[in-house]
This record gives sequence, C-alpha cells and structure tokens, in this order.
Amino acid sequence: MMRYFGKKRKFGEFRCPECKRVWFSANAWEGYGQKCQKCDIMVQPSSLRPLEKSEDKMDKIDISKRHPQELCEKCKVKGTFCGSY
Ligand SMILES: [Zn+2]
Ligand SMILES: [Zn+2]
Repeated sequence: MMRYFGKKRKFGEFRCPECKRVWFSANAWEGYGQKCQKCDIMVQPSSLRPLEKSEDKMDKIDISKRHPQELCEKCKVKGTFCGSY
C-alpha cells in the first residue's frame, strides 16, 4: 500500500501551450512541472489546489494504473515515484 499523508501533494491542472492539451494530476507539486507527452516540453501547473479526499481516492486508482514518472519533474528530481515516502 502506498502512503502519503501529511505532505503537500496537490491537485494540479496542466495546459500545454503547444498542443493545448489539458491534463490533471493529483501528484502535482508546487515548483515542479510535468512534461507534455506529445510535445516533450515541461509544463508548469496552471493551477494547484489542495487535494480533497475524493480526489485522493481517485488518484490511488490512477496510480495503480500509471503515474507517468518519465513526464513528472518531481519524480525525476526525486529519482523515484513522487508520491511515495
Ligand atoms: Zn503538448
Ligand atoms: Zn511524479
């Protein structure tokens, strides 16, 4: 089981300036971008807000699918999954 309580993981909205793709991540971090899969450019979150419980649940389902570590700047800096401690 993954545990990540008490940290400032946030719900972020990302908008790629190139392809206009919009995506959401419950593993968004202030000061860290996520790469647009298509354009291969680092995109900073256009908005960040605290996670709500329901979204945290949602994200766990999401994580079990896949968190795109290769696209996540925080994962790269950390060298491992950014939501794990
Ligand atoms: Zn793009
Ligand atoms: Zn990450």
